[in-house]
Amino acid sequence: MHIPRIVYRRSSRRLTIELMPTTVKDKTLFHIYNKNRRLEDWKGIKEELLRREGSKCWICQRNESLLHIQEFWDFDDEKQTMKLIEIHHVCDLCHKIKRTDFWFFTDYGKEQLKQLGYSYDDIIKHFCKVNKCKLKDFGENWREAIATWKIRNRKIWQQDYGEFIS
Ligand SMILES: [Zn+2]
Repeated sequence: MHIPRIVYRRSSRRLTIELMPTTVKDKTLFHIYNKNRRLEDWKGIKEELLRREGSKCWICQRNESLLHIQEFWDFDDEKQTMKLIEIHHVCDLCHKIKRTDFWFFTDYGKEQLKQLGYSYDDIIKHFCKVNKCKLKDFGENWREAIATWKIRNRKIWQQDYGEFIS
């Protein structure tokens, strides 16, 4: 079994909202692995993350038993290319910030959020706590992320999965 090496860069650990364009929502690494029956490799990534990062959220450093694999993509808006640069484990709340498009905007996401017992407030408070910022800073990041997302949703993206797909 080939387990891709997990690359580490000096990217910021700040918690930001980074939404996946709707045109590639079924083309995350997870989707590709799932489609190609490579879920063993996905499990391999999870095990490697547990070894390397322990049971901590990579962003907020909280110890958590429930950790999600987060794909970090770099966008080149001019060239319409996106590259998978890093993969880390993040906690439930950080993951919800990253995937705000799903949790805040889809009916299924909203319903799930309710069932999990989270309110939008919980998520926004987590953002402010991790970034040591005010509510208005969340608002700014939110508006910026949504504006960028809307533009990116209209584009066709060339995706580069780096060494995660060989
Ligand atoms: Zn976290």
